[in-house]
Amino acid sequence: MTVWNLLAMQPAYFITLVALLGLLAGSFLNVLVHRLPIMLERQWRREAQVVLNLPVTLYQRFDLCLPASHCPGCGQRIRAWQNIPLLSYLALGGRCGACKASISLRYPLVEAACALLSLAVAWRFGPSAQALMALLLTWCLLALSLIDARHQLLPDVLVLPMLWLGLIVNCAGLYVPLSDALWGAVAGYLSLWAVYWAFKLLTNKEGMGFGDFKLMALIGAWGGWQVLPLTLLLSSVVGAVVGLCLVGLRRHALGTPIPFGPYLAIAGWIAVLWGDEIHLSYMQLLGYR
Ligand SMILES: [Zn+2]
Repeated sequence: MTVWNLLAMQPAYFITLVALLGLLAGSFLNVLVHRLPIMLERQWRREAQVVLNLPVTLYQRFDLCLPASHCPGCGQRIRAWQNIPLLSYLALGGRCGACKASISLRYPLVEAACALLSLAVAWRFGPSAQALMALLLTWCLLALSLIDARHQLLPDVLVLPMLWLGLIVNCAGLYVPLSDALWGAVAGYLSLWAVYWAFKLLTNKEGMGFGDFKLMALIGAWGGWQVLPLTLLLSSVVGAVVGLCLVGLRRHALGTPIPFGPYLAIAGWIAVLWGDEIHLSYMQLLGYR
């Protein structure tokens, strides 16, 4: 009996496995979302200094592995058991074990959200290669949303490999035929590129960044060109609602840029996973069957 068979016969095993994987991935995403922008900023600074013939700033080693996680308050190393997602936060009562400084609620929230999104993927695909790759896509989109929301940045180092991976998995037709995926990537990039230039020529402002074009290409590579209209529609609706709420709550001044990436990522995720169902129910609503 293969692992797939076992997981298919025992849905409880599969669900538990996905929930645990989701929590672990969420825990890793917390590290990635915090450290990757800092790593990139240092790298760009170094490159600029070399080009400008300036003395290069030397930093201590800082990447996804080192330095080991520590409390920002007192510098205390976080022990292995304190790294257990969710549970350790609850066991510690949301405070550092050494200095009692409160730990941001963001960490357990990201872990919980990652587990819930992973369960949604499990529910959609069941134990299959589709579920496995969709989990990777989900985790990556979550990381991109969190980084873009904070830093207005969609790192190429995450977006481009996932774009290629979308084309590769669809080479075997995992979600859509390869030709749909290829034209999805092309049309995804060009559609937002066209919107960007139209907006810029009309208003002389930049409505979005180049990272958004690449993210749209990624979504097209995974879901095929068919998911692009739905993605655009959903992302504008969600973006407009959230934007108006933020302006209404005076958390955000009109005219300052709101990152578009998170909305695009959420909409693209929904469209890749449930695009077929949404199209079908829409057609039924219109009276076609
Ligand atoms: Zn501490």
